[in-house]
Amino acid sequence: MKDAKLVSKKDTNHRSVVNIFPGVDCGEQELVIIGGPCSVEDMEQMQQTAKSLESAPVQGIRGGVYKPRTSPYAFQGLGEEGLKILAAIREEYSVPVVTEVMSQEQLPLCAKYADLLQVGSRNMQNFELLKALGKAGRPVLLKRGLCATVEEFIMAAEYIMACGNQDVILCERGIRSFDSSTTRNVLDLGAIVALKQMTHLPVIVDPSHAAGKREFVADLSRAAVACGADGLIIECHPVPEKSVSDARQALSLDDMVDLVHSVAPIAAAIGRSVRTIAKPRRQLAVIESQKAPTCQKKVRVNAR
Ligand code: PEP
Ligand code: MN
Repeated sequence: MKDAKLVSKKDTNHRSVVNIFPGVDCGEQELVIIGGPCSVEDMEQMQQTAKSLESAPVQGIRGGVYKPRTSPYAFQGLGEEGLKILAAIREEYSVPVVTEVMSQEQLPLCAKYADLLQVGSRNMQNFELLKALGKAGRPVLLKRGLCATVEEFIMAAEYIMACGNQDVILCERGIRSFDSSTTRNVLDLGAIVALKQMTHLPVIVDPSHAAGKREFVADLSRAAVACGADGLIIECHPVPEKSVSDARQALSLDDMVDLVHSVAPIAAAIGRSVRTIAKPRRQLAVIESQKAPTCQKKVRVNAR
């Protein structure tokens, strides 16, 4: 792909690491696992989630506050109120927070409160948003479009990088096919392998939106890790069936903790690892923030 100048590997061993938070680097030997609800609903929901997942442990908490819903009458997200909840969770648990940004207008607020900015599937080719993310000063989690080819996905990442932001994480989340009654989307395991071979960027996998059903999520997670994924982003909720969006695919918090432990042997089999013992994150953040930044591993001190 001659136009993918910045995304393509320079040689077979070329790999980039994206720093999300002090002590959280995506693309290292240790996988980065992110968990949390589809939508931020209230402080109690996020508190319960962060507390349970501290013991998993996960390296990031997700939660949408601007939601791309099929129906304009469905819950659209809490907006800035939700961002403030995410920021409070980050402060209390010393964990990075991930949220979706749907438009350029939302970008300054999302960049103010969140550590990792997600571009949802429906916006993968929103080129003006991609260009703006090139200057956002935050790492970007770019999800593959519902019907995007691997090449289109790579070129979307190229937009962000060409506009100045080298901190891009790719996310395979399933593509649309003819049978959405059993699985919501088709998790493209081949794309994980292809992206790892063609690009130097970290690749993480969202099995939740691919599966659409909670009972498929753990098996797909293990398959993704076996195929070389650098991490996972998974939806879970204190009361999954009460989730205001994507309830059918949300794991319980206990199932999320079990999932983290169940992927560990698969990771080990391919020379990767999963953190299964909670490290004192607050201490780690302090130590990391005191290290001098290097070119490869940028340390962003979240002084907010
Ligand atoms: C989400 O993460 O909740 C979401 C809407 O994801 P996607 O863009 O992959 O559908
Ligand atoms: Mn969702």
